[in-house]
Amino acid sequence: MTDPVNLTIDGITVSVEPGTTILKAARQAGIDTIPTLCYHDYCTPNGLCRVCVVEVEGSRTLIPSCCTKATEGMKVTTRTPRVERARRTLLEMLASTVDLSDAPDVQEMIGEYSASPQRFPEAAPRSYPVLDDNPMYIRDYAKCILCWRCVQVCAEDAQFTYAINFSGRGFDTRIDTFYSLPILSTTCVVCGQCVGVCPTGALKPKREWLLEQGQSMDEIIAATVDDRKLRKRSDRKRSALPPQS
Ligand code: SF4
Repeated sequence: MTDPVNLTIDGITVSVEPGTTILKAARQAGIDTIPTLCYHDYCTPNGLCRVCVVEVEGSRTLIPSCCTKATEGMKVTTRTPRVERARRTLLEMLASTVDLSDAPDVQEMIGEYSASPQRFPEAAPRSYPVLDDNPMYIRDYAKCILCWRCVQVCAEDAQFTYAINFSGRGFDTRIDTFYSLPILSTTCVVCGQCVGVCPTGALKPKREWLLEQGQSMDEIIAATVDDRKLRKRSDRKRSALPPQS
């Protein structure tokens, strides 16, 4: 049996299994002052959004707690003025460019950190058309915070399908299919795992979305049944392709 790792978080001594991240150590100790956005319990943590940063004594930079392992004697502080400023600025940048109307958790965080998106008046909201190209879900990337969870569950974290990934650079970075193909022309098997982990409503069950558009249940059923027929046609087309070497 390996020795536990001892560290202090906000002055509280915590003992954790070797390999435990700072975030998990804090949660184990009942400390709930570390917010998360891109982190998901069932996805590989990657420190993308940086909203979970903390101060670690002796470190010049702020440390992403979701993907940094606790080490013996580490002294962590989770909510200093510097940490608060970093989180506030990140939230302000997000809120000034992304439609967060379907993300109540992020909106709550914005209130808690007194983030003011008006600080970036020149920022243009990211604008993409809603992609409605399959029977199960729609993709509204104007609401996407680029947390990468959908890409992860589509790949090694769950499905091993690799239908989507990052595309573009800088402000134009987005989630997309290979060559922006319609989703049914990719390796997507419409498993819905990406929808399950999306924190912002960027990926949404199609029936829920059609209900929001004011369609009646009969119209929704007719539309999704028609879509399923389309999918069957697409599957037939794909199976007629020669096998790849
Ligand atoms: S679509 Fe949703 S899950 Fe995928 S990166 Fe955007 S916010 Fe995250």
